[in-house]
Amino acid sequence: MFGAMFIEPEIVDLTAISPKAYRLRSRSSARIDAVVLHQTGFSRGNTPTSYKDTKAHYVVMPNGTVVHLHPNMAYLAASSAFNEDSVSIEFVGNFPSDSGGYWQPGKMGKHRPTSDQVASGRWLVARLQKELGLSFVFAHRQGETANARGNCPGPDIWYQIGEWAKTHLRMDDGGEGYVEGNGAAIPKKWRGPLRF
Ligand SMILES: [Zn+2]
Repeated sequence: MFGAMFIEPEIVDLTAISPKAYRLRSRSSARIDAVVLHQTGFSRGNTPTSYKDTKAHYVVMPNGTVVHLHPNMAYLAASSAFNEDSVSIEFVGNFPSDSGGYWQPGKMGKHRPTSDQVASGRWLVARLQKELGLSFVFAHRQGETANARGNCPGPDIWYQIGEWAKTHLRMDDGGEGYVEGNGAAIPKKWRGPLRF
């Protein structure tokens, strides 16, 4: 369905040099049924090794290159209530909230996802869905206790990747209001293009 639509992005495999201590244990592929989308809240540009300490299975840099940091079967403390059953994808940038606010913009900068980042993110979600038989796409905030990551991944990434995956890959976000643990539901404003 999407084969002709996307060119495979460059994938840089850093699984040999990322921190092994992050891999708390191995998990069963039978349990993995979701991807969880994140934003890093910062940018260190397009140098893959600059992200090797990021706690996620994958990082998508602004130029669209995908950095693979940990094997899919590694349990990481990356996605709160979704840790056991999901693969985590971090998008590099400090992206705005649905009201246009940025977290510590003076220090962390102000970014929007690039078209290359969006294309690579879609490709990666589609590939993981196919490879692992995934059914769900979640926003980190849906699984974060006490909602400490309320703007993760933020409306830009959710609309352009999460909603896209629902429409084009028939993935499921649990439905309106769905959360795990003490997470927070996806805001209505995240389900359309960002306006502020
Ligand atoms: Zn997150």
